[in-house]
Amino acid sequence: MWFDTHAHLFLVWESGEDEPLRPEDIRSKLTPVLELAQKDGVEGIVCPGIDRRTSELAIAIAELFPGLVWAAVGIHPNSASQATTRDWEKICEWATHPAVVAIGETGLDWFRDYTPREAQITWFLRHLELSWQVGKAVIVHCRDAEEDMTLALREAKRSGDLVGVMHACAAPWKTVAQWLDLGMFVSFAGSVTYSNKKLQHIREAAQYVPLDRLLIETDSPFLVPEPLRGREKICFPSHVGLTGTFIAQIRGLSVAELAEATSQNANRIFRSVKS
Ligand SMILES: [Zn+2]
Repeated sequence: MWFDTHAHLFLVWESGEDEPLRPEDIRSKLTPVLELAQKDGVEGIVCPGIDRRTSELAIAIAELFPGLVWAAVGIHPNSASQATTRDWEKICEWATHPAVVAIGETGLDWFRDYTPREAQITWFLRHLELSWQVGKAVIVHCRDAEEDMTLALREAKRSGDLVGVMHACAAPWKTVAQWLDLGMFVSFAGSVTYSNKKLQHIREAAQYVPLDRLLIETDSPFLVPEPLRGREKICFPSHVGLTGTFIAQIRGLSVAELAEATSQNANRIFRSVKS
């Protein structure tokens, strides 16, 4: 059985448009998507919000599909410049909701400049503090910001133990090893299956992460894994097994072993980490 630790279900529907699902459409649009995922062996999905509106949607989705979908609430670094104090108050309020298993997604994105870097760091630390307050894991996005991410995590570690996931990991092993030392779990998405030379380091890291810290995800609707990449426009949670199977192969493990280990890790970090 697979556990997809990162799927933006509110963006996974029909044409994969940017516009999030309307609350009244959740059941009709997502029922077939989730039925297919379960048919393909998915037993759990974490759906992280990227702003106030989608965090609320993530909770609504988790409530409609209990036992299969859990939510994470947070403000993505690329949405942070738009967020208000009121938005953050709502995130803090929802953080204690029983369907919410993590805080995020948050992090640092130096690839886009939607939010000034200083502000991204402030928002990231805010999420880390909230995760400590409620005793839940944090879901971390890091794009082209590896060094500053390591510095921020190292600094935060002085205030408390880090419990969280580096999601859709694209960093070289040298950096990933530092994140592991700081206590983080590491999750790989469909990009680990891509054969581009430039992305070779992602595979390398996926081989070395200790099995008890390894997670997998789809990052739906993005990062369609091979061999569907280029043929399908939307990545669905049902595709998580393609990424899992690929990682099993490069690590010389059976698919069952990899599925079992990564699902156990997900259960540990998301459902048992309580204050
Ligand atoms: Zn994401």
